[in-house]
Amino acid sequence: MAPIPTPVAEFLKGKRIAVAGVSRGSASAANPVYRKLRDGGYEAIPVNPNTSQVEGVTCYPDLASIPGPLDGVMIATHPAVSVEIVRQAAERGGTAAISGGGCCIAGTPLQKSQGIEDTPDLAFEDWVRWGGGAADEVWVRFYLEHTLHDLYYWAESCGTKWIDMKSQEGNRVTRWHRPENNGLGLMTALIKTAQSLPNITIMTSVNADKLLTRNGRVVGVMAIKHNETIEIQSKAVVIATGGFNSNLEMVLEHRPELKQFKVMEGSGLGATGAGHKMIKELGGYFTHMDHIWFYVYATPDYRDPQQRRGLVFRLTPGYIWFNQQGRRFHNEAPLQAAGGMLSRPGKGLQRVPRPALPSSTAQSIQSGYFRSGGLKVR
Ligand SMILES: Cc1cc2nc3c(=O)[nH]c(=O)nc-3n(C[C@H](O)[C@H](O)[C@H](O)COP(=O)(O)OP(=O)(O)OC[C@H]3O[C@@H](n4cnc5c(N)ncnc54)[C@H](O)[C@@H]3O)c2cc1C
Repeated sequence: MAPIPTPVAEFLKGKRIAVAGVSRGSASAANPVYRKLRDGGYEAIPVNPNTSQVEGVTCYPDLASIPGPLDGVMIATHPAVSVEIVRQAAERGGTAAISGGGCCIAGTPLQKSQGIEDTPDLAFEDWVRWGGGAADEVWVRFYLEHTLHDLYYWAESCGTKWIDMKSQEGNRVTRWHRPENNGLGLMTALIKTAQSLPNITIMTSVNADKLLTRNGRVVGVMAIKHNETIEIQSKAVVIATGGFNSNLEMVLEHRPELKQFKVMEGSGLGATGAGHKMIKELGGYFTHMDHIWFYVYATPDYRDPQQRRGLVFRLTPGYIWFNQQGRRFHNEAPLQAAGGMLSRPGKGLQRVPRPALPSSTAQSIQSGYFRSGGLKVR
C-alpha cells in the first residue's frame, strides 16, 4: 500500500472531526465518509444546515455551532458550499483570523496617496481626547511613534497588502487601514513569514494546559496533542491565548456588575481564558480590568443551539431595527456601536430601510460570518 502523505497522516491523528455535507438521504458522498470515521473510532460530527439529526446523532448547521474543540473538518459538499465551509473553518481559529484586521496607523503612504495629512501628534490628540481621561498616554505615544515602521512597513515586508481605509469614531482623519482579506489575510501573511524562519515550529491542534516550572522559573509548557500529553521545554514562554469573551463565567467573575444583564459569549471560539488560568495557577492576577473594551454581543446567534453566543453589529446605517414584538430596540445612529441582527423572518429581528440616514458611511459588520453572507435571509 502507498504510504500515507504526511499532511493526511497529521490530519488523521485528530480525534474530533466535523464532516460537512452528511445528509438524511444516504446518497451524499459525505455519509460513507462520516460512517468510516465513526466506525474507525473518531468522534465524527455531522454538519448540514438543513437538518438537525442524521445517522441518529445531532447534526450542526455550521462549524461555529459545534461546541468544544475540533481537530479537523472533512468537506464533501458542492464546491460552492465548500468555499463557505473553508471560510467558517477560519472562524474556529483565533479572533485575529475572524477580525477586520484593521490597524490605526498615522502618516502612511496609503493616506498620502489619498491626500490625507496625518501625524502621530494629531492621532495622539484624537485618542487622548476620545479616551475621555482613561487613555494611557505613554502607551498611546509609544504605539503611534512605532506603527509606521514596526507595523505598516513590517507587515508589508511579511506580505500584507494594505488596501483601503475606513473612518473610526474619535479620529479626525481616516487612519484605520484594512489589510487584504481582513484579519485572515494579515494572519496568513504572518504565519507564512514565521514558517520561513529557521527554528520556528508551528504546532496546530495542540492545547497548552499548564506552565512547567523549575526552581520557581517557568521552563516550558505541558500541552495536549491528540489526547496525548506532551512537554515543550523552553527558555521563556509567551502566552498569547487571546481573551476570555467566550467564557461567560470568567466574564461575570471579573465584571460582576454585568450580572444584572443578559451577557452573551462573543469574540473567537478559542477566547476562553485558558492562558489566564495557567498564569493564575502560578499566582498571577489581573490588572486594568476597567480598561477592557467590549463589543456589544447583544443578540443571540441563531446558529448556536445553546443560545449562549451573541452577534454584534456596528455602523449599519440606512436601517431601523425591530425585534419580534415589532419594537425598536436600539439607537441606529451611524456611529453608535450597538447590538442587533437580522435572522430568519419570524424567528428573529427584521430590518427596514431607513432612507433618512446617510448611506455614505460604509456598513461595518464585525463578524466575518455577516460580512460574507450572514445578512442573507435563510
Ligand atoms: C469580529 C471581530 C472583529 C475585530 N476587528 C478588529 C480590527 O479590525 N482591528 C483590531 O485591531 N482588532 C479587531 N478585533 C479585536 C482583535 O481581533 C483581538 O483583539 C485580537 O485578535 C487578539 O489577538 P490575540 O492574539 O491576543 O488573540 P486571538 O487572536 O484570539 O488568538 C489566541 C489564539 O490562542 C488559541 N488558544 C486559546 N487557548 C489556547 C490553549 N490553551 N492552547 C493553545 N492555544 C490556545 C486560540 O484558539 C486562538 O487561536 C476584532 C475582534 C472581533 C471579535
